Amino acid sequence: TPDGKTRVLILMSDTGGGHRASAEALKAGFEELYGPKYQVNILDVWTHHTPYPFNQMPKTYSFMVKYSFLWRAAFSLTQPRLVHVPTATATAAFVGQRISEAFDLYQPDLVVSVHPLMQHVPLRIMRLRIKNGMQPPTNFATVVTDLTSCHNTWFHPGVDRCYVATEESRRQALGIGLVPDQLRMFGLPIRPAFGRNFASKKKLRKSLGMVADKPAILLVGGGEGMGPVEKTVDGVAKQIGAGCQLVVICGRNAKLVEKLQNKKYPPGMHVVVKGFVTNMPEVMSASDVIITKAGPGTISEALICGLPMVLNAFVPCQEEGNIPYVTENKVGVFEKDPQKTAQIIQSWLGERSVEFQEMAARAKALGKPNALFDICRDLHTLSPSGAITLAFGPVVRAPAQQKQHRA
Ligand code: UDP
Repeated sequence: TPDGKTRVLILMSDTGGGHRASAEALKAGFEELYGPKYQVNILDVWTHHTPYPFNQMPKTYSFMVKYSFLWRAAFSLTQPRLVHVPTATATAAFVGQRISEAFDLYQPDLVVSVHPLMQHVPLRIMRLRIKNGMQPPTNFATVVTDLTSCHNTWFHPGVDRCYVATEESRRQALGIGLVPDQLRMFGLPIRPAFGRNFASKKKLRKSLGMVADKPAILLVGGGEGMGPVEKTVDGVAKQIGAGCQLVVICGRNAKLVEKLQNKKYPPGMHVVVKGFVTNMPEVMSASDVIITKAGPGTISEALICGLPMVLNAFVPCQEEGNIPYVTENKVGVFEKDPQKTAQIIQSWLGERSVEFQEMAARAKALGKPNALFDICRDLHTLSPSGAITLAFGPVVRAPAQQKQHRA
């Protein structure tokens, strides 16, 4: 490129908070590892580069996941390749022109998708562009941001690389026709700040308005403050009360913040209520245990911080598999009932404290703080500048590239 930078284009969409979080983590990872050598752009393709009604996709998603039967139907009906491949082909016919314009605008040297609906359509358009001489051959990689039970559209046999976080996803990818050479398993890309060493728990707690000496329960409902947050607060207040401090993160749910801030709590119970926080690494490091919906991002972050967890809600389909992932690895439990959740945590902090410590150690061991940098280093080898470094000569295509024209 004229400015000497290698351009990476990350394709994402704001369905839930996790895809953007992963995209931003990758951007930060490239910055830390390679500095100004790379220019990373994050693009919400559906919202900004497709015509109506395709640009309504994130809104449609927010609506549908609230009605689990609707979401389950949409998820399972589109699982077979026989359904989603022709759908993608038809979609590409409608949105092709606009997406092609986006490629012209960003002129990527490497394209990275962090969204299940960003393989089939962009790959098809990119291939046509390459065939028609509109862009040079460009590598395309998928970073799967779900932990388990992924939608099949995450996996396209024509990608140059596909990064999965768990063995289950790896097997799913192989079942769809990807070959072991295309796959890398490092873990979910989590913001670099989670891999750093923090100040002591005591100092962190002070800076976050927490008290030093009480066990800290963290309650999170994903980026949107979903799940039975208020009922869980009530359960903990009734069951544990002054025996703990509670940090509630309500995400973008402003109404919930107000409600919980104005609530009466038992004397001696310390409660901190916050909306969307940008310092989740500190908040988690200052806590002892987490209650959360089964979001892949939050689970992976909690593991890195060594927090045993109670999963109390999940988005149907793509988050369901995260429950056995947590329970089978013995780093937490699934409990929907707020009262029982409070009882479980009370026992962890009391008579089952040895078991609790063991869970914390297992969580820490399962967490993958280096996954982000492992992914970025591998992506680097797929980009023209990585290829130059590796080959010490003119740009060579990464070996996986040959497969791009196969499917
Ligand atoms: N998050 C955050 N601040 C908040 C609430 C959530 O930074 O106040 C982050 C959280 O750390 C995680 C992401 O938002 O990285 C949520 O992703 P997850 O996959 O857990 O759930 P989603 O919101 O995508 O359903």
